[in-house]
Amino acid sequence: MRILVTNDDGINAPGLKCLEDIAAQLSDDVWVVAPETNQSGASHSLTLHEPLRCREVSERRYAVRGTPTDCVIMGVRHILLDQPPDLVLSGVNYGTNIAEDVTYSGTIAGAIEGSLLGIRSIAMSLAVGFNAEGDIHWETPIAHGPKLIERLLDAGLPDGVLMNVNFPDLAPEAVAGITIARQGRRDQNNLHIDERHDTWGHPYYWFGFERRKSNPVEGTDLWAIYKGMISVTPLHVDLTNEPMRENLQGIFADTRRKSGK
Ligand code: MN
Repeated sequence: MRILVTNDDGINAPGLKCLEDIAAQLSDDVWVVAPETNQSGASHSLTLHEPLRCREVSERRYAVRGTPTDCVIMGVRHILLDQPPDLVLSGVNYGTNIAEDVTYSGTIAGAIEGSLLGIRSIAMSLAVGFNAEGDIHWETPIAHGPKLIERLLDAGLPDGVLMNVNFPDLAPEAVAGITIARQGRRDQNNLHIDERHDTWGHPYYWFGFERRKSNPVEGTDLWAIYKGMISVTPLHVDLTNEPMRENLQGIFADTRRKSGK
């Protein structure tokens, strides 16, 4: 099985090393194409107005001066053109990709791009800051990831469906199980804007996120992480809201020009 590994935290991120360890437990045909710099929050963006620089860092490891989406495209359509990967793994992200994080996430976008290219794809993230204090438990995705990936592949990933996996930041033996979760939503917006001034006195801004706990609905990804469980959510790119679509279809039915006669 040929595996393409990417992330959004960049080629030097500890989570990438963690995912390479996971991939190495599944195959000896592992390739890494990851962004040169941190692309967290890049979502599914694509570089269209700048040239893409691709650097071979070492054997089977490449850094692209672009987004995770750029990396997957470069990996599948250029570097591995002779034989496309059977699996795209993206992560392991430093921090959760749950609830509304999903729409900002470059990690998930890497897996979205893989699925759009017709390849089974899994995004993985570690919920740093949610659970235990102290050291980051990178050993937990390494301990639980390979078996979980095997089980997901055995279950079968339908065309256009990608997997979003989040690990609690706990020791491997402290993990409380696996929840097949729904995408949740935080009940408060914890974004704040930090205004500072440069040496010319001009203001500039940093977006920051405070860690405030919300009261998540049971069965959601947010709830699973609060409970110390691994959260697995199947995602797809179709963002249509079906009840509203049906509702509007009725409301706008009168606007259709009568066909034919
Ligand atoms: Mn990230």
